[in-house]
Amino acid sequence: MTQLRIGHGYDIHRLVPGRPLVLGGVRFATDYGLEGHSDADCLTHAICDALLGAAALPDIGHFFPNTDPALRNIDSQVLLRRVVAELASRQFSLVNIDASLIAEKPKIAPHLAAMKAALAASTGLPVDCIGLKATTNEGIDEIGRGLAIAAHAVCLISRP
Ligand code: MG
Repeated sequence: MTQLRIGHGYDIHRLVPGRPLVLGGVRFATDYGLEGHSDADCLTHAICDALLGAAALPDIGHFFPNTDPALRNIDSQVLLRRVVAELASRQFSLVNIDASLIAEKPKIAPHLAAMKAALAASTGLPVDCIGLKATTNEGIDEIGRGLAIAAHAVCLISRP
């Protein structure tokens, strides 16, 4: 009998000038980006936490501490691949992922397909098993004022 497990993840990073903006493994042509120890890709971090949570494992900060100099500016797709490998070592495979980005800027919609493709490559999931939406925060609070970008993710994983 197949065991199914649901996971949830959330992440938020501050927007600052002079950092590269990477979301879902895609680099945006902006003069601002997300602050963080890694590339600060909050969408990919939320997905990592959803996957780890589904497996009842500790969160992304446990596996990839922001005090580790080897992780400075690391591509978060590398972290996602490690999370998928961590699950695979426990016989878990991915069923699907659904995620939402909350960003006042930049425009996300034109890049959704590229982000899905990058996430599919990192997770081994088909593109049609990755849901991805973007919304603004309607000008409300720090996200609405363009000071931060946040992401929510849920996933389903299975084990024989
Ligand atoms: Mg993060």
